[in-house]
Amino acid sequence: MKLVKKEKPLGVCNVCRAYTDQHEYVNHRCNKTVHGRRCYGTFKSGLGEVWDQCQTCHATGKVGTQTCSECAGFGWHLIR
Ligand SMILES: [Zn+2]
Ligand SMILES: [Zn+2]
Repeated sequence: MKLVKKEKPLGVCNVCRAYTDQHEYVNHRCNKTVHGRRCYGTFKSGLGEVWDQCQTCHATGKVGTQTCSECAGFGWHLIR
């Protein structure tokens, strides 16, 4: 299986920094659970953000057959 680089995440939560790669979540409420409660943040567009490719998986989101634990399989990290 050939690994391909993933696209940068489409959105990032303004509270918990979770990423999403689904268009329908952008500008919608975050669906992550933080400390047992649903996150109150909103996924903001990641288009204006600066992303750095994950050094562990080289933006493929995979290490071997496993999902990369460094980037949770997204392949990118947000630079702040
Ligand atoms: Zn969130
Ligand atoms: Zn990674």
